[in-house]
Amino acid sequence: MILYDFEYERPGSLKEATALLNESGDGARLLAGGTDLMPNMRVEVVTPSLLVSLSGIEPAAPEKRADGSIKIDALTKLSDLVDDELIKSELPMLAEAAHTVAGNQVRVMGTLGGNLCQETRCLYYNQKHDYQFVEPCYKRGGDCCFPFPGNDHNTCWSVYMSDIAPVLIALDATLEILGPDGTREIPMADLFTGDGLNPFTLGAAEIVQAVIVPPLPERFGWGYHKTTVRGGLDFGTAIIVIALQLAEDGETCSWAKIIYGAVGQGPLRPTTTEISMKSAVLDPPLIAVAASQEISPLPHHGFNKGYLRENIRVYTERSLVRAIARARDKS
Ligand SMILES: Cc1cc2nc3c(=O)[nH]c(=O)nc-3n(C[C@H](O)[C@H](O)[C@H](O)COP(=O)(O)OP(=O)(O)OC[C@H]3O[C@@H](n4cnc5c(N)ncnc54)[C@H](O)[C@@H]3O)c2cc1C
Ligand code: SF4
Repeated sequence: MILYDFEYERPGSLKEATALLNESGDGARLLAGGTDLMPNMRVEVVTPSLLVSLSGIEPAAPEKRADGSIKIDALTKLSDLVDDELIKSELPMLAEAAHTVAGNQVRVMGTLGGNLCQETRCLYYNQKHDYQFVEPCYKRGGDCCFPFPGNDHNTCWSVYMSDIAPVLIALDATLEILGPDGTREIPMADLFTGDGLNPFTLGAAEIVQAVIVPPLPERFGWGYHKTTVRGGLDFGTAIIVIALQLAEDGETCSWAKIIYGAVGQGPLRPTTTEISMKSAVLDPPLIAVAASQEISPLPHHGFNKGYLRENIRVYTERSLVRAIARARDKS
C-alpha cells in the first residue's frame, strides 16, 4: 500500500502547531508518534492533505506539583510512561496500562496524547476498501454499514480501544487543551461524544497538551485487566478498570468507579452499580453480575455481545478483588 502525497510541517511549539491547524482547516491533521494515524492513512480511512508533526517538540518530564497532583506532558512516549519512576510509584495503574499498549516498537513511538485521540476501530472500516471490501461504509462517507446492516447514516458502532483513557477517567484526570484561543481544561470523560462517527469533542485546531492527575486518597485500590487474543501487540478485546477507596474500617467502600474500554464508541461506565457500591461492604461476584448486565458492550472484531458480557463479568470480579486487597494494604 503506497502512501499518497501530502504536505508536511514541523513546528517548534504547540502554539505554532495549533495556529497551523487553524489556518489549514479540515485537510490538516496532527501527527504525534504516527502509530495510529499512519496505518489509517495507508488504508485511506483518513486522507489529510497536511500533517502537522509534533516531533520537533520535546516533552517535559512528568512532574509532581505542590498540590500533590501529577502533570504529564501529552507528548510523553508510552515507553517513558512505563519506565518513569514518578509514574511507577505514584500512578502504578497508569504505568501498567501503558505497558499493555501494543509492543515496545509501538510504545517507543506512540505518545500519550495520540493514544487518547486514536480513531475508533471496526474490522470493516480498518481495511483498504478496494482491496478487501467493495463498499465504503458510513464512517468513510459511503452508504452502508456492512457488519451492522440495521445502522443508518447517524449510527456507527466502531469501537474506541485506548487502554489508557479508561484508567485516566478512573483516576479523575483532567485534560489541558490548547487551541487558537488559548487553554482550557476538561475532565477526561468529557473528551468523548459517544458517537463512533465523530468520537471526540475536540475542535479541529485543538491539541491535548497535558494530563493532570489529582492526588490519590488514602486506602485507594485499583484493578486493571485487558483481555487480548495473543497476549501482546494486540488491541483489547475488553478492558476493565476499577478504582475505589475503602473507609477506615477497611471493609466499607467510600466510593468506586468502574470503567470499561474497547466495548463502546467511548469508555463505558455502569453508574447505577457504582452508586450501589457507595457506603456498602462489597460483594465482588454480585457487583460483577450487576455491572456486566448494566452496560451494553458493542460486538466487535468477531466478539459477540454475550461473550463480551461474560468476559466483563469474570474480570470485573477478579479486578475488584485485587482493588480491595490493594486498598487494604494501604490501610
Ligand atoms: C500494531 C499496533 C498495535 C496497537 N495496539 C494498541 C493497543 O493495544 N492499545 C492502544 O491503546 N493502542 C494501540 N495502538 C494504537 C496506537 O498506536 C497507540 O494508541 C498510540 O499511543 C498512538 O499514539 P501516537 O502518538 O502514535 O498517535 P498518532 O498516530 O500520531 O495520532 C493518533 C490520532 O491522535 C491525534 N493526536 C495525536 N496527538 C494529539 C494531541 N496531543 N492532541 C490532539 N490530537 C492528537 C492525531 O491527529 C491522530 O488523529 C496500536 C497500534 C499499532 C500499529
Ligand atoms: S460500524 Fe461504523 S466503521 Fe464499522 S462498518 Fe459500520 S459505519 Fe463503518
